[in-house]
Amino acid sequence: MALVDVKGVTKRFGGLTAVSDVDLTINAGEVHCLIGPNGAGKSTLFKLIVGLYPPTKGSIFFDSIDITDERPFARVQRGLSIKMQAPSVFKELPVRQNIQIALQARFSGAERDVEEERLLALLDLAPESGKLAGTLSHGQQQWLEIGMALALQPQLLLLDEPTAGMSPEETFKTGELIKSFNAEGMTILVVEHDMAFVRQIAQRVTVLHLGKIFARGGLETIIQDEKVAEIYLGKTHAH
Ligand code: ADP
Ligand code: MG
Repeated sequence: MALVDVKGVTKRFGGLTAVSDVDLTINAGEVHCLIGPNGAGKSTLFKLIVGLYPPTKGSIFFDSIDITDERPFARVQRGLSIKMQAPSVFKELPVRQNIQIALQARFSGAERDVEEERLLALLDLAPESGKLAGTLSHGQQQWLEIGMALALQPQLLLLDEPTAGMSPEETFKTGELIKSFNAEGMTILVVEHDMAFVRQIAQRVTVLHLGKIFARGGLETIIQDEKVAEIYLGKTHAH
């Protein structure tokens, strides 16, 4: 069943068409990776799904409801949760308080305390809970922000380059975390550049190139597609 259905969506910035007539289905329960070279339109498509940009053309459905004209906040209430490309934790506040702020939307009282401890432990941030978020490593700040997105108990978790700036060990651990969320039934869309990471987590892959869908399919099909390797590795002009 399609949880998200993007139908014929185009986004223009002045004369530049960043996303061009894109159809994309994200099925309930899958980990879907959106890949493609720099400037392909991945983050723009991500922001269209989240509601940060209105599309120039086309429609977006969530759970069969047309959300094309809904504000981001209304989409979050429907069960979308987002982690943007640049980390946006409250750096001057302690780690624990960042989680508490995120939890306020869904929890209160003792239930909130339990969820707070669960998230801190899940993200290996319990030992850091008293530190100011701005003093954490870059990878830990990314995890904290993922934790804040999880605090909303989303049906659909959207992550834009969640492993940017992470060490290989941190990247692997992030992949295992994403798989564990998915094992509990969460649908996840990941915009990602790192192919090793895509191999670790993806079930289905959509490749964007120059704003258009270039290829889509199961992980193995996409990995073996030579045309994808060419555009993805920027080899188009190599031979
Ligand atoms: P990706 O995330 O795949 O690297 P983006 O979606 O960020 O690609 O960008 C796609 C294209 O749209 C690029 O050419 C980029 O310069 C342009 N673009 C993205 N956002 C804006 C914006 N807010 N205003 C104008 N051009 C933009
Ligand atoms: Mg991007």
